[in-house]
Amino acid sequence: MIKVEEAQKVILGNIRSSGSEEITILESMGRTISKDYCSKDDIPPFDNSAMDGYAVSSSEVAGANRQKPVILDVIEDLPAGRVAKREIKKGQGIRIMTGAPIPCGADAVIMVEKTQADGGKVKIFESAKAGENIRCAGEDIKRGELVLRKGKIIGPAEIGILASLGVKSVEVAKSPGVGILATGDELVEIEEDLTAGKIRNSNSYSLSGQVKKAGGIPHHLGIVSDDKSEIRRKIEEGLENDILLISGGVSVGEYDYVKEVMADLNGRIEFWKVAIRPGKPLVFGVINGKPVFGLPGNPVSSMVSFEVFVRPAILKMLGQKGDNRREVDAILEESIKKKKDFKYFLRAKTEWKGGEYRTKTTGPQGSGILKSMALANSLIILSEGEEFVEKGRQVTVRFL
Ligand code: AMP
Ligand code: MG
Repeated sequence: MIKVEEAQKVILGNIRSSGSEEITILESMGRTISKDYCSKDDIPPFDNSAMDGYAVSSSEVAGANRQKPVILDVIEDLPAGRVAKREIKKGQGIRIMTGAPIPCGADAVIMVEKTQADGGKVKIFESAKAGENIRCAGEDIKRGELVLRKGKIIGPAEIGILASLGVKSVEVAKSPGVGILATGDELVEIEEDLTAGKIRNSNSYSLSGQVKKAGGIPHHLGIVSDDKSEIRRKIEEGLENDILLISGGVSVGEYDYVKEVMADLNGRIEFWKVAIRPGKPLVFGVINGKPVFGLPGNPVSSMVSFEVFVRPAILKMLGQKGDNRREVDAILEESIKKKKDFKYFLRAKTEWKGGEYRTKTTGPQGSGILKSMALANSLIILSEGEEFVEKGRQVTVRFL
């Protein structure tokens, strides 16, 4: 039995990048950028007005107020998208709209609310400092600036930035294909009747959701019975994917053949059994260069094993830095007894209350109680070595 951290290290040591591809930015939501993007231009590209109003020279309007307005000749009307034809000279101003380039001779914009148009003239009721209501060239992004780093997940703001950089197609990490195989004579598919002794296959579906959320593409391989040659055939089929997940059949039961078949297929078994609860019987190996995870069959164990071991592998394939899950300290609202030799990941509800995070389990924590996972927003992590963790203690919590 190896420790969680050691198992994670071994897994990551066997994971390679999934490569990259180019897609249009409209399709890129949630994907991972696989190249650094620098700006070729200043954004905005020119000094422009932040307000609808009048472009003026700040020295001309010094001291202006309601009682003693400064009166200027309005020499032009400048909408966004055009450039002023004339330069502002003494006693002059230009009516300007938000986004229009600042005309020569102007160094400030007086907002329209502080003015009053009067034929071809305008009364200015307020003074302005040089630069007031002007958005400078490059104030958002400087020319040459590294704006989006390789490894970043693309969200709506990143898509907008790519558009403003003039990038129509973006280079992203290829989404790894993840084969999902359920094993067990007791399993039937969703639409089948539950006859005596049978249960529905739920693992393939929760795993599929987890794969998608992590940035992979799930490929369902269905259910295979506890039969060595059948399992072998399905694993071979599943190896067309970048990663293969097999649920069930990895424990010490009479019909748990997965590990044996993996070894038979010329697989290199890297480890079997991890000091984790839930999820101890996890097996990890590499067959034909493809990482293969034998996940424990219990629905909660399968999901927690994915979270702790498979998700980081997918993120590494995508080239993401770190694992972007938030971990915080929280006060435990109940006492917990545990086995000393295992690291625990308990399903929990964690909330910010009275200036601190407080956390409690989502009820019975049996590894077959999938509801405990559905009710959870987080996992309480308790290290090996501990046997009794008292109510009121500070523990580490990982948000899901
Ligand atoms: P195993 O690891 O094959 O011994 O399975 C452990 C437990 O998980 C058993 O009670 C199985 O019935 C259950 N189980 C295994 N595979 C699945 C699955 N795909 N969906 C739901 N439960 C499963
Ligand atoms: Mg089984």
